[in-house]
Amino acid sequence: MAGHMSAEEFREHGKRVIDWIADYMAGIESYPVRSRVRPGEVRAALPAYPPERGEPFKRVLADLDAILLPGVTHWQHPSFFAYFPANTSGPAILGDLLSSGLGVQGMLWATSPACTELETVVVDWLAELLGLPEHWRTDARGGGVIEDSASSGSLVALLAAVRRAGRGRNTVYVSSQTHSSLEKAAAIAGIGSENVRVVDVDPDTLAMRPEELATVIERDRRDGATPTMVCATIGTTSTTAIDPVRRIGEICAEQGVWLHVDAAYAGVAAVCDELRWINDGVAEFADSYVTDPHKWLLTNFDCTVLWVADRAPLIDALSVVPEYLRNAATESGEVIDYRDWQIPLGRRFRALKLWAVLRWYGAEGLREHIRSGVAMADELAGWVRASEDFALLEPHPFGLVCFRPLWANLSETDADAATATLRERLNDSGELYLTHTKVGGRMTLRLAIGAPATTREHVRAAWQHIETEYRALRRMD
Ligand SMILES: *Cc1c(COP(=O)(O)O)cnc(C)c1O
Repeated sequence: MAGHMSAEEFREHGKRVIDWIADYMAGIESYPVRSRVRPGEVRAALPAYPPERGEPFKRVLADLDAILLPGVTHWQHPSFFAYFPANTSGPAILGDLLSSGLGVQGMLWATSPACTELETVVVDWLAELLGLPEHWRTDARGGGVIEDSASSGSLVALLAAVRRAGRGRNTVYVSSQTHSSLEKAAAIAGIGSENVRVVDVDPDTLAMRPEELATVIERDRRDGATPTMVCATIGTTSTTAIDPVRRIGEICAEQGVWLHVDAAYAGVAAVCDELRWINDGVAEFADSYVTDPHKWLLTNFDCTVLWVADRAPLIDALSVVPEYLRNAATESGEVIDYRDWQIPLGRRFRALKLWAVLRWYGAEGLREHIRSGVAMADELAGWVRASEDFALLEPHPFGLVCFRPLWANLSETDADAATATLRERLNDSGELYLTHTKVGGRMTLRLAIGAPATTREHVRAAWQHIETEYRALRRMD
């Protein structure tokens, strides 16, 4: 058993693996959505020591079925409504498999030209599909790159912003609704939490208040700080609120501050013309923009696209050229080396899966996927609005619907506890999986629609389940 897997053995096991995945997709509804294992259960079922002698591959598959699957939460289950979706699709999985098969390390153009050039093509294609500005395309001053996550994309954008602003007491501006990855990026960039300004949001829209932003930036400048980056969010993680990017952008332009736009979840919705309004102000004012095809655009994790309006400060910030990576292509200046656009040196051939997705679905198929998610969310919101037992959070422009069960006669604290109990009972049932957030201090349920397998019937069943469990709980107190 000890030798390498031969091409023939690979063919045989590979076919089994593909069959395994196809069976998994076809039978996914037979599993409880959220894993029921207790902490340590999976680990305890596995040997503490590695094997001395090699084992047949089929034993790996057997353990996958027996030990690992019970510990898997089924993100592709059509009744997975937690967090945000993390879409996969047939073409994406196959594109990723091809990337594994090629085993290319694309740190430089010279280490595999097609890896770099296909990536340039697909990020430019995606910019076109989302209606993003011409000058972000690679043949102009900007450019896009595939990062492992929006968190990395935002960190890289911050490093470019610091480069442009110069080192000083750099300050960064976010809102209370900004994703936690910005605070982490600031910490990694050496910007202390005391220099991360949390700008107030409007209590109704949960969007950043631009007047407040302008005041804070001016005050910081007077105090000798170097205002460096503002992060505006299109589709916040908590509730999909949208910051007023145009107004924020005008302030950034006046103040010479880098505007980063975090559209990790919602940005891909701009494939649909009727949703392009979400990017109002982006073309004129954004210096950088991230969105995640690995959330709602059918491309399995990891695949974030970061665009910059001007690639120079990014490359200046991140380019380090040791002797052993010097090569004629880099020196000629005619090629892109994407290692200069990211934190690590090495990079996978991730463009393959995005390319496979864009070609399989076409713009039409992508629009259809987003539209169906938005339509199902609308329908669910209609049921919530019509119910006397629940309060709906408006608006809900994308696939996320937030709502709060009403518990007559309970204090706010007790009502929040009852909402948490309801959530746990629903998730324990295995029939669906949803998560929560806090809005105005109140425990609020989040139901995010967008898995490719989800249909109206799944959403309908989820709503019926929620109503039934809610009534059962009300009867208990
Ligand atoms: C999900 C999310 C992120 C983080 O995305 P990763 O790709 O997992 O790093 C950042 N910002 C927003 C608004 C998000 O919704």
